[in-house]
Amino acid sequence: MSTTSLATELTSQTIAPDTEQFDSYVMGTYARFPISLERGSGCRVWDSNGESYLDFVAGIATCTLGHAHPAMVKAATAQMQKLHHVSNLFYVAPQGELAQWLVQNSCADKAFFCNSGAEANEGAIKLARKYAHVKLGIDAPMILTANASFHGRTLATITATGQPKYQKNFDPLVPGFDYVPYNDIAALEATATKYEGRLAAIMLEALQGEGGVCPGDRDYFERVRQICDRHKALLILDEVQVGMGRSGNLWGYENLGIEPDIFTSAKGLGGGVPIGAMLCKSFCDVFEAGDHASTFGGNPFACQMALTVCHTLEQDDLVNNAKERGQQLQANLHAIAQKYSDRLDGARGWGLIQGLVISESHALTSRDIVQAGIERGLLLVPAGPKVVRFVPPLIVTAAEIEEATAIVTDVMANLS
Ligand code: PLP
Repeated sequence: MSTTSLATELTSQTIAPDTEQFDSYVMGTYARFPISLERGSGCRVWDSNGESYLDFVAGIATCTLGHAHPAMVKAATAQMQKLHHVSNLFYVAPQGELAQWLVQNSCADKAFFCNSGAEANEGAIKLARKYAHVKLGIDAPMILTANASFHGRTLATITATGQPKYQKNFDPLVPGFDYVPYNDIAALEATATKYEGRLAAIMLEALQGEGGVCPGDRDYFERVRQICDRHKALLILDEVQVGMGRSGNLWGYENLGIEPDIFTSAKGLGGGVPIGAMLCKSFCDVFEAGDHASTFGGNPFACQMALTVCHTLEQDDLVNNAKERGQQLQANLHAIAQKYSDRLDGARGWGLIQGLVISESHALTSRDIVQAGIERGLLLVPAGPKVVRFVPPLIVTAAEIEEATAIVTDVMANLS
């Protein structure tokens, strides 16, 4: 069957979900917007009423190549027809090829595959702890993370996440974590000194995404690297949201002029197919057979889809597109913020992860803007109560950036 006829068949089979039925049977862990999305193409999605939306959410910074990209449809069909899952009891070629691509295009030497960002960070935390035990002789290793960070929803990663709202009612949390303000080197120096002899790792996002689209400072990260070296602690960078080209460089750390010892990737890696990766330099690769595992991790289907994303990024120069379209998006958002300076404080971000910042003193919330955007055919996502996040697919065009920012201008003109 051709990929076009496969897509048509899937579209015609789609049944609009009944939201009452949905809410009766699905746990209420998400505050969903009341539209039911049914199909997509490029940077656009359609709901069950046939309304179209320009998608600047991209599955929350995940659909790198947008929706129904021909290369993804073709690769998915071919891999499903060949082999989709066999477990890690056996060798599978796509996993090795993906690891090689990631290693050859980053500072890392080795990769471990899993299924999500939280899992990739769990792997990084376990690796750092084992390294501290077996290489540094530390009995009770400490990992420092940042306030306002986000690292996932498992017990260890909500503990790593420096936001009490994600931890409430889930205690007792995992021991061995402490927190520092982001981009504040004096605070980090002091806390690292407090844990002298016990410091296993410092774990940070190169740009805090969920925490409000806050890019790391270059000077700060250069000093973080020095502190890690001085304490023999590992530097772990969580690249789950900002990595895979979104920042205008393949990896967020390239914006900071430093290299981590461990970094994690997920979201954009599979372009919407669940896959995560934890990558490290060989000196800290202390995992042995049996130390860590995942049934689904690195299966041939997910790896082939991630490889398709990687190859398409290269072939279509999409990292550069992220940089150029990101500059255009940021300039347009700055202009909107200037025009509505009574309500907006500005725009910030790297490449195609940009945040429009609402004034703290104004009653307007990010959800108000997102809701008004949906009503006008634009999908956006909050990054906390006061920042609206723009994370379109990396294939976004100049015309689509203009269309999206014209809608935001209209939203601002009509929201007081
Ligand atoms: N780390 C960062 C920086 C994230 O932004 C997220 C998700 O938003 C995660 C980790 C968790 O990823 P996942 O939801 O795939 O577990």
